[in-house]
Order: sequence, then C-alpha cells, then structure tokens
Amino acid sequence: MSVRRWKQVISISVAVLLVTSVILAVVFGIKYNRLYHENTKPQETAAEIGEGKVETDEYENIIKYYTNIKSDENFAYKDKHPELYGSSQFNFTEPSEKTCYLTFDDGPDPNTTPVILDILKEYDVKATFFVVYHDSEDAKALYKRIVDEGHSIGIHSASHDYEKIYASVEAYLDDFARLSDHLEQITGKRPDIFRFPGGSINTYNSSIYKELIAEMIRRGYTYYDWNVAAGDAKSYEVSTEDILYNIFSADSSSKEKIILLHDGGSYQTTAEALPEIIERMQAKGYSFAPITTDVRPVVFEYKP
Ligand code: ZN
Repeated sequence: MSVRRWKQVISISVAVLLVTSVILAVVFGIKYNRLYHENTKPQETAAEIGEGKVETDEYENIIKYYTNIKSDENFAYKDKHPELYGSSQFNFTEPSEKTCYLTFDDGPDPNTTPVILDILKEYDVKATFFVVYHDSEDAKALYKRIVDEGHSIGIHSASHDYEKIYASVEAYLDDFARLSDHLEQITGKRPDIFRFPGGSINTYNSSIYKELIAEMIRRGYTYYDWNVAAGDAKSYEVSTEDILYNIFSADSSSKEKIILLHDGGSYQTTAEALPEIIERMQAKGYSFAPITTDVRPVVFEYKP
C-alpha cells in the first residue's frame, strides 16, 4: 500500500473511533443521568417513618386540639388561596369495631397502582390513596379509578420535595393548591383529607409545623399520620417477609390501625404482601374502611 493509502486508512480509522466514542459518551451519559436521577428522586426518609414520634390517639385530646386551633381566627394566611377550604367538621367517630385503614402514599404509579387496585377489588376492601401530582394519561385514569372504585383519595404533595414544601407555610399551601386543583379537574372534587410528606412532624418542618398544622386545620382539612408502618419505601425493594414483619410485629392492641404503605415506586413487594396483610388482619378481627373526614385521626404527638 502506498503512503497515501495508509494515511487514508488511518484517517478513516480515527474518524470511526471518534464517532464511536461520541455515540458511547452520549448513550452512557443519558443512562448515567437517568440512573442518577432515579437514585436521587425524593425517597421516603426516616422522617417518613416518623421515627421517635408517638401518636396521640386519645379521642378527647384530639377534639380539644382541633377545636382550639380552629377557633383561633388570627392567622396570617387568610388571604392566600381562597379556593383552599375543606369541609371537615371535626366530629370524629370512634370506630365501634376493630378497623384497619390501609393507606397508600406517593402514587399513582402506572405499574404498581393497578395491581393494588385489582387486589383490593378481589377482596372487596376499600382503602385510601394519598397521591402526588402526575399529569400523564395513565395517572389521570388512575386518580379516576381510585375514586370510581370507592376508595378515598387524599392530598399528599404535588412535588413531594421536602425542602421546597416545608420552606414556609406559603410554600406548603402553593404545593397543596397545585395538586388540589389538578384533582378537582380530574375527579370533580377537592379532597378534604391529607397526609404530610414525612408525617405531620418531621425533621424538615420542625420550625413551621405548629403554624402549618394550625393553618390546615383552620381551613377545614383533616390530616392523618399512621400508627403502623410497612417500611416499604426504602431506596431498595423491601422483601414481602419484612413488610409483613413490620406490620404484624407492631403493637396489636390498637382498635384503630392506620397502616402506611406505598404505591409510588415500581417495587412489586407491597402488592405481593397485600393479600396476606388483608387475610391476617381479617383473622385478627379487623374490618377495612376508607378514611373519610369523620374517621378519628391518628396524629403524631403535638405539643401546642
Ligand atoms: Zn410520601
């Protein structure tokens, strides 16, 4: 081969190598970026489990607690979001029999939520979904399906970004309003019940939680923490055995159980554990109900 030919071969080889490198860099760059974002999306943290917190479930205390806050009309947020008023009357009913409220946070998810809804339908069990904001057609259909099949739908958070929503009471209300508007458009109704991301008292809202809770109560919204956590929202998939252990090793004396579960990730084990959760609770004498505004809330210990 001539020197010229060699030069041509080398040039082509270098060009092919360069193009291949660029393609590889782009492909892996996208993949890495996706992996990175999947791993850093807001995960439920220890705060979501409500570690170190005690729930207050004394009926009289809760009534007093709500009534005192509600009667105080001197809040700074009166003019914000005039559309955001719930209809809670705070006339809570103590369950007459052992009642279990299954609650699913962080959904809807196009893979997980339909499986959970199918199981609930099979067992004729009604539950509660504290949802986040999604705008896809799948999500819109799921918000509707939740309501159509007789479950309760409550506000969880539009962004589920702890730092953003707990930056101030206004920031929380803005996020809440975004999801409330969205759900009203899709289901025709604004939810009256909600669950704070991370629970009502957590490491992110420690400087504003009193003002925030007071403002939400004043607006006629009822919030629900939990007294049983499935522990199914870690950064990895928790086994069905661990989920069942977390639920059934918890204090069994409570007549009213509000169980924290999640349908927001693509993990399958929550749905896999669900039939056994339902059957074992039924065997213990519990019936299931969706949360409505007359259900006595379980709330983390609040010291006014
Ligand atoms: Zn959550």
